[in-house]
Amino acid sequence: MFPSVSKRRLCAGSALAVALSFGACAKTNEPATGETERPAARPSILLVTLDTTRADAMGAEAAGIETPSFNALVARGRRFTRAYAAVPETLPSHSSMMTGLYPAGHGINENGRTLPKEPALLAERLQQSGYRTAAFVSSFVLARRFGLGRGFDTYDDVEDAERPARETTDRVLEYLRGPSDKPQLLWVHYFDAHAPYAAAEPFRTRYAKNPYLGEVAAVDEQLGRLVEAFEKSARGPIAILVVGDHGEGLGDHGESQHGNLLYESTMHVPFVLVGPGVGRGVVDTPVSTRRIFHTVLDLAGLANTDSLRAVSAPEVVLGEAMKPFLEYGWQPQIMAVDEAHKAIFAGRNEVYDVAADPKESRDIASSVTLSRAMRTALKDYPIPAPGVAQAPSSLSDEDRKKLASLGYVSAGAAPVVRKDAPRPVDMAGLFDVIERASDLFVREEYAKAIPLLEKIRASDAFNLDAVLRLATAHSALGHEELALRMFEKAKELAPQSSDVRTYLALHLARGARWEEAVPMLEKSVVESPDRVPVLEALARIRERQGRTRDALALWQRIHGLRKASPPELVKAGELAMAAEDTETAIRSFEAARLAQGPSFRHHLELGVLYLAARRFEDARDALDRVSPQHPAYAMALFKRAQVSVLLREPDRASRIEAARRGANATTRELIARERLFQSDRR
Ligand SMILES: [Zn+2]
Repeated sequence: MFPSVSKRRLCAGSALAVALSFGACAKTNEPATGETERPAARPSILLVTLDTTRADAMGAEAAGIETPSFNALVARGRRFTRAYAAVPETLPSHSSMMTGLYPAGHGINENGRTLPKEPALLAERLQQSGYRTAAFVSSFVLARRFGLGRGFDTYDDVEDAERPARETTDRVLEYLRGPSDKPQLLWVHYFDAHAPYAAAEPFRTRYAKNPYLGEVAAVDEQLGRLVEAFEKSARGPIAILVVGDHGEGLGDHGESQHGNLLYESTMHVPFVLVGPGVGRGVVDTPVSTRRIFHTVLDLAGLANTDSLRAVSAPEVVLGEAMKPFLEYGWQPQIMAVDEAHKAIFAGRNEVYDVAADPKESRDIASSVTLSRAMRTALKDYPIPAPGVAQAPSSLSDEDRKKLASLGYVSAGAAPVVRKDAPRPVDMAGLFDVIERASDLFVREEYAKAIPLLEKIRASDAFNLDAVLRLATAHSALGHEELALRMFEKAKELAPQSSDVRTYLALHLARGARWEEAVPMLEKSVVESPDRVPVLEALARIRERQGRTRDALALWQRIHGLRKASPPELVKAGELAMAAEDTETAIRSFEAARLAQGPSFRHHLELGVLYLAARRFEDARDALDRVSPQHPAYAMALFKRAQVSVLLREPDRASRIEAARRGANATTRELIARERLFQSDRR
């Protein structure tokens, strides 16, 4: 029934690179007999992804928790007891499930990136084949902008940080009440188990001693509601897949959350599959959750390669945790698992027999020989180039804050390839410090962030991210000397880094040495034309230099990238007036007036501009709104008299008289020379 050893070796070895980019090796996956007879009608398919859910937190044998909804599915289907996430982070893990590819294939190694257009997504394939497709996700990390919405007729995402499972389920149930004559693909993502752990009652009280399990139990309750509603709504056959996107450290190997290491606590996930042609029972062969993609295609009758509906040949399951490498320049980490061993490569190999030693407490690397397939898999695994580590410039400050509130922070600095790169597990004591420091930094609480950043630097002197954040924090607090010293250090660590240059330029632009910043900012604007803080700094310098038109053009670009505040609209109006760009000036002041309502104070400017644009009625209305307390009220009276004459108003003579009576030194002269008033004098 199983392919020969030589065939397996061929797949896992030389063809590995192909599998990484284009899916798994087809040859190893001959369907077992009698297991894959396709039902006549295509099933409706429910995929539920459980965020941050450890394998040992679900199922009848899970200690300290009851998960009746999950257990009921296990009783009806096939449970995979050794399922592995591709990456211990939400967006990359889901990207693998939705493309069937490891990160080298889809390009998402971290949260906060955007999926490229090329890899076909599961929902696109099903939508094209006539499925009705809908997704309900519960975290900003999976918002549509990050790319997973393609192919879904409905993509119900959240712009807030997160949505509780109960609310998400309510929305799904409402959706399921709608009519459907097609088979459906429904993906539901629950986020509750993610930190902080604060389940609603009764779970809060019931799990007071283990709030994490309380969240998981609360999600299991919603899973039950969801499955029941889905089954009721379906007309034909159904299939259900429930899977974790990654686990949670809970202190194992020094990691409290997830994303930094590759141990079982975060990589090993629960997974159950129920559906037509799926036998009941337990599969203890290691499998990657990226095969959700192949399995759903198979259930929909679109392809049967690598489906988990059939009992398939063992494969080397891969995984990665590149965040510490991409963010701090630590060792890249790769995981490879076969039936006998689990290997983690991070500078050197660690090997565990997870069946006998599930806590991975005994590293047996020195006493075992890994299979050739495992060794090849580890050797050939593609490490992302440091260049790709740049955070996307499309992430706004607001987006960064949202990601930070979920514990995901990227400084956006490309890592330096370090000779001394530490192994992430040896730095586990810093994970929480880094996370707290990043969170404070993104919230601009610099004074609180500095001692934590110093602590990071004390343990990891070559950490560019920490040095650069320290420099920026000191700069923001006006600590001139300390900021410059840190920028010098950053330059030593990364002489070629454009980030270092950019942050230094932003620092110099704020102080007495602003002229030194000009060429650096100009270069940064060319490199990243959408980077708002750089555009802002250069715009202010252009104002200072009296290059009004250039300043205005930069502000207009900035306001195309983010919403302008009312004071900024006023400033744009003033710059446009100075640049004699009447149209832009009118548009800016009008927008400011709309935004500010009764507190708008620039009616005089608007009146003058309307007059220049020969919009006399608008000018009249604007000038009538100028308060007599306005310091330039004399000018308003003069302009109003001009408008009155131009509109041939009956009371224009008294308007001229009022302008004369209220005149000041400036307007007295103007009134004396005003031809409109002379010709109109009677
Ligand atoms: Zn997640």
